[in-house]
Amino acid sequence: MSVQSSLLDSVRIILVGTSHPGNIGGVARAMKNMGLKDLWLVAPRAQFPHPEAEFRSSGATDILENTQVVEQLEDALSGCTLVAGTSARSRHIPWPLLNPRELAGRLHEELEQPQHKVALVFGREDRGLSNEELHLCHLHVNIPTNPDFSSLNLAAAVQVLSYELRMSVLEHQGQTGQVADQPFGTQWDAPLADSQALQRFFEHLETTLIDIDFHDPDNPRQLMSRLRRLYLRARPDTTEINMLRGILTSTQKVAGTKK
Ligand code: SAH
Repeated sequence: MSVQSSLLDSVRIILVGTSHPGNIGGVARAMKNMGLKDLWLVAPRAQFPHPEAEFRSSGATDILENTQVVEQLEDALSGCTLVAGTSARSRHIPWPLLNPRELAGRLHEELEQPQHKVALVFGREDRGLSNEELHLCHLHVNIPTNPDFSSLNLAAAVQVLSYELRMSVLEHQGQTGQVADQPFGTQWDAPLADSQALQRFFEHLETTLIDIDFHDPDNPRQLMSRLRRLYLRARPDTTEINMLRGILTSTQKVAGTKK
């Protein structure tokens, strides 16, 4: 069945540190089955391109040919306004956590806004995503599995999320234009800050907090992680980020750490 492909075109699948070329092919196949196209690899440990990836893609070679390979997760997040990280297990600091169906409902609302780009980030086969990588994400997604056997194969996890996304798009077909209950209405006056603008803000925030002796990098006590979680929850737009950075610059001037 054909779907509003523009919504699915706005979703980027990012695989971090994948070890097995066959899994990359399996992910490409799962994506193409569900109508997704945009695949990025961050520092793959598998050789890529690789015949095993092509074999397992079962003909989704167009996705493999257009796959972008970068060294840092931050590079793969360029231009993304909403970042969701997947995890098979709960982590130390609780983060906004959704199941795939809740995520799909959320994404559908999100993607009706023209400038939105959503990244779904998947981790390494042996140890998932690091805490630092998960802290680059607005929200976390867990597929509710058997707690005694919780970890899915990477391509199977991509399949579950992209299936829910496709189902959500199918269910909403014909209902576009109903934006009343969206978190950001069409009248919103500034675009959401993208991932890079947010990272630059977090770096500026950390420097300033060190300048004013509020933050001791030798004894961080999760301060930056908790502040990240707070600001990411607020979904700041570009004007708000500029204001916050202006406040930081003024603070640095008063502290005498910036002229
Ligand atoms: N042993 C790893 C699991 C890695 S599985 C760990 O403990 O984190 C490889 C990737 O598949 C994960 O990083 C995640 O992106 C995805 N995945 C596997 N099972 C999942 C689940 N139950 N919920 C969400 N994502 C899952």
